[in-house]
Amino acid sequence: MVSVLLFYGVKKGGVYIVKVLRCSDMGVQCDWIGRAETEQELFKMASEHAATVHGMKEIPKELLAKAKTLIRDEK
Ligand SMILES: [Zn+2]
Repeated sequence: MVSVLLFYGVKKGGVYIVKVLRCSDMGVQCDWIGRAETEQELFKMASEHAATVHGMKEIPKELLAKAKTLIRDEK
């Protein structure tokens, strides 16, 4: 069971917030943009994308940590 705290992304002060991660922000020449309601969902999408498009079976910890700092809130 995943902590409910992870699912804070949907509404904050009545504003709909979406988590956004851009592949190009990771230093990759790619125009993929991931959007999800939670970081968890976003990472899931990103790892699927990395696997299918960039051939990365596993995302290195360092890259994951970097990706975390690159997530933005979009209202
Ligand atoms: Zn990409």
